[in-house]
Formats: sequence, structure tokens, C-alpha cells
Amino acid sequence: MPKLANLFTESLVADPEVGNFTRQVADASYSFCQPVKPSAAELASYSPEIAQLLNINSSNGLSKEWQAILSGSHIADGSKPFAMRYAGHQFGNWAGQLGDGRAINLGNLEINNQSFELQLKGAGPTPYSRQGDGYAVLRSSIREFLCSEAMHHLGVPTTRALSLMTTGDMITRDMFYDGHPEQEPGAIVCRVAPSFIRFGNFQIHAAYQELDLLKQLADFTINNYFPHLIEKPANQKNITKEIYIAWFEQICRDTADMIVHWQRVGFVHGVMNTDNMSIHGLTIDYGPYGFLDNFDPDWTPNTTDAQGKRYRYANQPYVAHWNLVKLAEAIYPLIEESEPLEAILNDFPVYYERQWQRMMANKLGLADIEVSDKKLFQDLEQLLAAVETDMAIFYRELAKFDGQLNSVSQLCADAYYQPNALSNDYIQMRNQWFLAYAERLQRNSFDSQQRIALMNSTNPKYILRNYLSQVAIDKAHQGDYSEIDKLLNIMRKPYAEQPEYQDYYSKRPDWARHKAGCSMLSCSS
Ligand code: AMP
Ligand code: MG
Repeated sequence: MPKLANLFTESLVADPEVGNFTRQVADASYSFCQPVKPSAAELASYSPEIAQLLNINSSNGLSKEWQAILSGSHIADGSKPFAMRYAGHQFGNWAGQLGDGRAINLGNLEINNQSFELQLKGAGPTPYSRQGDGYAVLRSSIREFLCSEAMHHLGVPTTRALSLMTTGDMITRDMFYDGHPEQEPGAIVCRVAPSFIRFGNFQIHAAYQELDLLKQLADFTINNYFPHLIEKPANQKNITKEIYIAWFEQICRDTADMIVHWQRVGFVHGVMNTDNMSIHGLTIDYGPYGFLDNFDPDWTPNTTDAQGKRYRYANQPYVAHWNLVKLAEAIYPLIEESEPLEAILNDFPVYYERQWQRMMANKLGLADIEVSDKKLFQDLEQLLAAVETDMAIFYRELAKFDGQLNSVSQLCADAYYQPNALSNDYIQMRNQWFLAYAERLQRNSFDSQQRIALMNSTNPKYILRNYLSQVAIDKAHQGDYSEIDKLLNIMRKPYAEQPEYQDYYSKRPDWARHKAGCSMLSCSS
């Protein structure tokens, strides 16, 4: 058994209180706290790739000892479990102390000079649980487990998931906060990432004027995860203003790149609060997320956000920018000059736009970007939103376009949710766009084989649609976990044709249009 290391707890200040009760913590970056032993833990699924990455795979799958660790029943050698203290802006409002309310970090595995942090989500209460119970229900754990892996295989930066354990314990949830609480099975996902440090970890120290801790945390983060920014490793203790600025610039770029990927695959996070923003530009905290079925820029899967739709698809880049402003405010005391931070923040939309255009060019199979392409991209998004058009199917089928207008209607047929309700105006708009695209393709320096290859490696055939997860959840509630493994397997190769899984390449069925868990999700998980 490898021993776990404790990078975070050994470098940063602990809460001196070790009792596990809800409280406001001051002058500390984390609190020690133990997982609760589940009554009858069972392995529901695991990711062999992550087990391999961590060197813990065996021919029989995960060992019993690892399963005990991943359910919180057994504490690994060297592990000193802890919950992080962080704050955040939720839906645009300052929320004060939040922290790991149902996540417990186990420590780090060092493999081939790479460090991976292991974290259990749903292993019981912590000092940061506030009104929550510290547990996670099976339905949301399945969603997080599957999507973490699906996103990775889509090429989107994300935290990973090693395992999904059921606990054998029931927990109470009022899914839509409408006075209908139900008992649901509990589960634990073991998440894996370089670290789980969020914007909110910096915000809490800044908000409470804990400037020594702020500097300690920033230096820890840079030394461990951004060492390339430090010119002279011998000088690791002395991180200069210039390094903090370069670090912030990288966070902005990493975040922008992540959002461009989200937009590419139609992913809507649903809860882009600053406490759900990873300092590594990783997608983190899969709650009421969703993939666009029909391309609706105003869609959000989160019923808690149904009114303001702050976290709708089209708003994600703006929210990311807003969140980065909050991070800049938090780390300002380390720099004490606003101009360089403002300059970087002002560059965010410019950088984002450039990356977005490159991504859209890839979706259309274009080798280079011309000035007029922006209009082509924007017109396409308008076309997709004009009638209910499945985003993934449309782009995937677009690779088959041969430049002939008479092939368009056949090409798009499978993408429409109401194929019989297309107006003449719409058809005209569609013809215009395809004409412009055909014209543009004549100036494309890629031949059609190259174009198709680029498009099919940019536009996934298989995405983890909410309704697909819901089918796996419904089966799991009957004790059958096979659909989880099946989805994991399909989503492992989202760009491959996989004709044997053609059924999974289909629009959201009608029954899922308004079903809880498919079109509507809440934060209650
Ligand atoms: P989220 O928006 O789901 O990332 O959660 C926001 C905050 O609420 C975080 O501090 C979580 O740790 C906390 N939280 C969410 N669910 C629970 C729960 N069941 N028990 C305790 N804390 C929770
Ligand atoms: Mg969260």
C-alpha cells in the first residue's frame, strides 16, 4: 500500500479545534476531520484509467483495502483527513464562509513526480457543513462520477473520479425544496485532482484580513502547482509581485480555455459560484449541470437559478470574467497595484474571443480564420437557436456537408425536435447560412478529408445527456449498476463512431423534456 502524503496540511495553518461540529473558523486554512464509517459500503463503479494513473489497479479491480479507504471505512497510511476552509460569491452575492461541507480530503499520492489529491465527497459532516448533513445522494454521485470522466475524455479540463461507492445508509432530501422530503440511498465519490483549491480559498483569507495566510496559501499554490513561474527555484520562498501577476494571468487563461471547451461541447455548469472555480482551470463540483440538447443559449439546468438564469450557457464566459475579478480583488493585497491586474482582466474578453473563434473554426473544419468568419459563427448560432435543433447532432452531421444545398435538409433532419414545423423563413435562413459556409469552404486550405477529421475530433458524437444519466440512476435505484459502466464505456470514446452504441446518439426523447433529473435539477444533492 502506498503511503499518502499531506502537502496541504503540512504547509498551511490548521484550525486548532479538532471537534467535528459546525462552526465559523478563523485564522486557519483547514480543519482536521474524519469521514464517517458507512454501514454497508459497496463499490458501484470505478474508473480503471484513474486507478491505473494512481498505480492502484490490479487484475481484480480495486482491492478490498482500497475500497475501504474510498468509502471512508479505513484511513490510509499517512492520511490525515481534512476539510478546507473557503468562502465564495454565490449567485453574485457574498456568502461568507462556506468550506468543504461534504468533502473530506485524504491527502496526496505522488506518482512519477506528479501529485494527485484524493477527496471523498459525501463521507459525512465537517466543521463547514453549515445546515447540511455532509452526505451525498446516489443520483448526484452517479452524475458527478460519470461526468467527471466523460468531460476528461471530451478533452475538457476537469477533476477526475476514481470510484463510486454506495454507503448502505439512507439520507433525507427535499429534491425541489417544496416540502416533499424523501429517503434516498447515500453514496461517496472519490475525486482526484492536482488540488481542490478554489478561488474561494483565497477569498476567505482576504475577506477576514488574514494576510499572512493569504500569502502562505498563494505561495504554497505557486510553489507546488505553478513552479514554472518561478525563475530561480532556490528563491522559492521569495515570491515576487511579478510572479503573483504572472500566476493570475495564467489562471485567467486557463479559465478562459476551460470555458471555451464548455461552449464547444455544450456543457452548462449550472453553479458557477466563486467557490466552484478551480485555481487550476478545471471543471469542478458537478451539481445541477447539463449538456445542451437543443441549442438554447439561455438554458440553465439549475432550477435554483431559473429566475435570473445567471449561469445560462451564453453567460458562462461573462461569469468566468466576473469571478476572476473577485479573485483579483482577493489576491490584490499580495500585489498592491491594481493596474497590472486590470490589464490582465481587460485582456480576458480579447483572449476568450480569440480562443472561441479558433474553437468555432475547428467545429466548422476551417484551417484558418478570416475576419468575416465571426459573422459566419454568429449566424450559425442564431440559426441553431431559431428552431429547436440538437447541438451535438447538428455539428456531428455537419461534417458530411458536401457543399450542395440539396443535401442540407437530409443532413439536418435528425437534429430537429419538431421537424414538421419548419417555416419558410427558417428554411431560407438555413439556405443562406449553408450557402455562406459552402462559399467559405472553397477558400479552406484543408481538403475534405482533413476538414472531416478536424470536425469529428472537435464535435463529439456522444455526450452525457441528462436523460442518459437519469436512465442509469433509475436502474441503480433498482440495484442494477450496469448502465453506469456502460455509459462510462461509451463516453470513453466520445469522438469515435461506435456504431454498436448508435442508440446513444439520439436527441433527448420526449418523455425527458420536463422530467426531474433530465431538464430540471436543483442544488439539493
Ligand atoms: P455547491 O454549490 O454544491 O458546490 O455547495 C455550496 C456549499 O454548500 C459548499 O460549501 C458545500 O460544501 C456545501 N454543501 C452542499 N451540500 C452539502 C451537504 N449535503 N452537507 C453539507 N454541506 C453541503
Ligand atoms: Mg461547491
